[in-house]
Amino acid sequence: MDLNSLIYGLGISGLFASRAFLPAFISSVVLRWGDSFPFLKDIDFLQNLGGSEPSWFTNGYVITALGVLSLLEIGATKIPEAEEAMESVSKYLKTGMVAATYFGFLSTADKSYIEGNLLAMQAGFFANIWGFISVANTYFTASIRSGIMELLFEADEDDSLGLRKMISWAEDAWAVIGFFWLILYPIVVLIILGILLGVAFLLKKYFHYKEERSKVTCDSCGEQNYPCATECHSCSTPLSKPVTVGFFGQSKNDKPAEDLEKHKLRLTEKKRCPSCGTRLEDKDPHQTCGTCGHELFKDPAFAKDYLAMVTARLAPVLLITLALSFIPFLGLVIGVIIYRVHLVAPFRRYIPLYRSFFIKWMIRIFFFILIAVQLIPGVGGVVVPLMALISYRSYRKSFVKGLTEVA
Ligand SMILES: [Zn+2]
Ligand SMILES: [Zn+2]
Repeated sequence: MDLNSLIYGLGISGLFASRAFLPAFISSVVLRWGDSFPFLKDIDFLQNLGGSEPSWFTNGYVITALGVLSLLEIGATKIPEAEEAMESVSKYLKTGMVAATYFGFLSTADKSYIEGNLLAMQAGFFANIWGFISVANTYFTASIRSGIMELLFEADEDDSLGLRKMISWAEDAWAVIGFFWLILYPIVVLIILGILLGVAFLLKKYFHYKEERSKVTCDSCGEQNYPCATECHSCSTPLSKPVTVGFFGQSKNDKPAEDLEKHKLRLTEKKRCPSCGTRLEDKDPHQTCGTCGHELFKDPAFAKDYLAMVTARLAPVLLITLALSFIPFLGLVIGVIIYRVHLVAPFRRYIPLYRSFFIKWMIRIFFFILIAVQLIPGVGGVVVPLMALISYRSYRKSFVKGLTEVA
């Protein structure tokens, strides 16, 4: 084993940072049938493997199991609720799968040409070092990736913009195409990986730095607070000039909040504590802020104002989506984004995962029929507003249910 092993090891860990099972599945398929792929014909190593007995890693059952798990993985990463539920374990799953693939690779190689060779023992020793580097690097890369994904989760929890779904498809493609590139052009893959990793790392640092740097000092106790906070998290002294928050819930440092009550509602809508501005964790209207101890929606008047704020948007959103309905396809896409952001997201952020998943699918089945109707001219105009109205009512109902349930 040589420098090539390191290049492959680092490269493959970059693929496993995206997906756990998909790269393992592709690895086992290529190790088993690599010599039948026309574009892999010139790869010596795969030719050497050709015709040898399958190892535990390349036998039919393991390949089938990995294939099924890969399909489940692709499906799960397209459902925001499932993806979020998986996110906490995915780092370990990926690290485990890269290790398994690595040993699978070694045992397959062993079977073919380094078996029984004295050199193989030395090679094995070095291989384990590269293997270790590869496993450690998967953990490291997957951690950076999940840090960036966390920012995206926070920014657009239910993926109203569809950005996460786009990234998810790109990652699937990367796990598959990247694997073949790695065999054919390993250096290119390493360069791409290095750039992606560098950008992700800097981006994460930048957001953290920006948030920390913009913090304001409490006049009364000297504690640091988010610029969008209405009260000091430590001594509860009202802060003089809170700033508004943008679409992603980020503090807009050049825009002071005009109306304090409206600002508190807006913070809540963006899932930040209406008092100290900390990002809230739970999908429940009744929760206590981990930083300042504020009890969300404890005040019934505040809950009423929150509902009124969203309700006031209903008529304008219905009008806009009605107008958009007349633009084929694009109007539908923009209309869906508009009502999801303005009517659904404020409720859905406080509805438990399993419940919003259920609502989503019930509505989807119904919408599927409606979208089919969209194809008929004349009837189409009312479809998007109808989708908006049904979504609004379903999510609102579930939100109110959570609100009235005693925690
Ligand atoms: Zn203070
Ligand atoms: Zn708070």
